[in-house]
Amino acid sequence: MVEDLEMKKVYAVIGLGRFGGSVCRELSQEGKEVLAIDLNEERVNEFKDIASYAVIADSTDETTLKELGIQNIDHVIVAIGDNIQASILTTVILADLGIKKITVKAQNDYHEKILNKIGAHQVVHPERDMGRRLAHSLISSNILDYLELSEDHSMVEVKAGRKMVGKTLKEMDIRAKYGCNVVAIRRGKQMNVSPSADYSLQEDDILIVIGADKDISKFERQLIIDE
Ligand code: ATP
Repeated sequence: MVEDLEMKKVYAVIGLGRFGGSVCRELSQEGKEVLAIDLNEERVNEFKDIASYAVIADSTDETTLKELGIQNIDHVIVAIGDNIQASILTTVILADLGIKKITVKAQNDYHEKILNKIGAHQVVHPERDMGRRLAHSLISSNILDYLELSEDHSMVEVKAGRKMVGKTLKEMDIRAKYGCNVVAIRRGKQMNVSPSADYSLQEDDILIVIGADKDISKFERQLIIDE
């Protein structure tokens, strides 16, 4: 039943640049109904056979959006790139129309602040996030993934370093020493959520660690890097 409801969820992607286009493609590939909107005719044509509907429209025009039935869409993704003004205007209109879920791509921190104030439910920052992820993976090949949870908290996925192998979580005392929490450990295909203090680490175990950025950095520097 839940799956049935999920299947019926309808999405709209406004702005079919690299980011919006990729969101649109993935949603369509997952079998979701997607309305693709862009000002640019060529971009819209590219998505004619990919999205359920692809239309040329200016999303800063409220009347046009209403005519497209935007009010019936469950989740709208605003992926307008460089034109920050158009992105903000579009978000205001969507919020005004009471769209249930609005996700907007931000160009910079200032843009992000405004979007949060005017009613975006989720603001994404793909270039910045990608840059941070890459930086962390460059620092050490043991850092497998990095995810920002809030302005000052993150999650990292790290391979157990040599300094950890054979030790229990209790012995390493990560929470007391570094202020971060090991929320799960993956061993092969097995996922161990909330591992107990006597969990003994093996080579190739993957730890999922959550904490404040400064604490995560300390943890990375002392236990993961400089193997
Ligand atoms: P990337 O390609 O990395 O995603 P980007 O997000 O900067 O970069 P752009 O090339 O700027 O991508 O793409 C934004 C898209 O949004 C363009 O195709 C542009 O035509 C479209 N767009 C801009 N303003 C509007 C608007 N008012 N209504 C609808 N589409 C718009």
